[in-house]
Amino acid sequence: MAVIEVSGLHRAYGDRKAVDGVSFAVEEGEIFGILGPNGAGKTTTVECVEGLRRPDTGRIRVAGYDPVADRGPVTRVLGAQLQESELQPKITAGEALELYAACCPDPADWRALAERLGLTGSLGTRFAKLSGGQKQRLFIALALVGNPRIVVLDELTTGLDPRARRDTWRLIEDVRASGVTVLLVTHFMEEAQRLCDRIALIDRGRITALDTPSGLIERTASGTEISFRPSAELDTEQLAALPSAVSVTRKDGRVVIHGTDETVSALLSLLAARGITAHQLRVTEATLDDAYLDLTGTGTDT
Ligand code: ATP
Repeated sequence: MAVIEVSGLHRAYGDRKAVDGVSFAVEEGEIFGILGPNGAGKTTTVECVEGLRRPDTGRIRVAGYDPVADRGPVTRVLGAQLQESELQPKITAGEALELYAACCPDPADWRALAERLGLTGSLGTRFAKLSGGQKQRLFIALALVGNPRIVVLDELTTGLDPRARRDTWRLIEDVRASGVTVLLVTHFMEEAQRLCDRIALIDRGRITALDTPSGLIERTASGTEISFRPSAELDTEQLAALPSAVSVTRKDGRVVIHGTDETVSALLSLLAARGITAHQLRVTEATLDDAYLDLTGTGTDT
């Protein structure tokens, strides 16, 4: 069942089209990622889902509610960590968590949440004195303190050190395991590949691809690269005829073939049948980075 439905969303700022006909549906309990270059329209899209921006046209439903018209019910089911946020400079991290928890009908244990996010030692620190990473962790905790059914995280781990990033990923995996639906905007491919069940790639206000991480990788032209130095001459035409081979090139005595896993297996059989050894054999799989670059065009913020 879809808990977030976005259909034909358009939003412009003056004559600049930030979001230009975006549609997607997020299923209950999944982590749905939104990836795209700077200025692609990701934050505008999720802010419309959160009810913080009013769409020009299009239909959005969050747990069946209109995020603008049904503000109250949406606030009760949805937690949000915004890309940029501020709190009163003098409030401490602990006071902020306690205050937010007090405003929620069914709050989480905010001390346990702070512990999970490595904030216990900073609970007595005023907001203005927290480091960038501590502020980020506090905003993640505030997004989760109301035990939301849906959580929107815009640049979840930006500014976090590698250990804090991994701890946060584990927390989000636990959040998903408890049945919460996550809408995640990120620039980190490793994060998207590890966490997301499906990803929408947005470029210049439009979705250019929507698939699982492995589905996106399979679509990339880079595919699997096989490179080796054969012990005897090999016919280029015969290599090009290998199943799923896209290209065969030769460089400095090395043969480089682009194809798929199927091409690798067939090549190994061919080499074995001909008694040829593949010296310095390298098989490189395409990554989500390759898919991202292939599928989001030039991706400049113009
Ligand atoms: P980033 O990855 O850099 O955060 P994004 O994909 O989240 O980018 P948005 O913040 O949605 O992109 O911005 C989309 C476009 O709309 C950009 O060209 C941006 O300059 C413009 N824009 C965003 N907010 C406003 C605003 N309040 N007023 C005018 N233009 C805006």
